[in-house]
Amino acid sequence: MPSAWFGPCPHCNVSLSYLEGVTGSNMSPKCPSCHVVISVSRATFLAADHSRLSMAYKARALVKRK
Ligand SMILES: [Zn+2]
Repeated sequence: MPSAWFGPCPHCNVSLSYLEGVTGSNMSPKCPSCHVVISVSRATFLAADHSRLSMAYKARALVKRK
């Protein structure tokens, strides 16, 4: 049964959607941002999370660096 959860990439910390059991999922999905394989316990398809919340978070992170 497909399920989805949301979390950061363990490598580059970008917000990702972890879609388990969907078409195109596999046991060694690559982060769409840094292209590093993320180890998972179930077949997973990774999608970038382009929600407004993550956009706002990125904007704040950029401001902090200045
Ligand atoms: Zn990444």
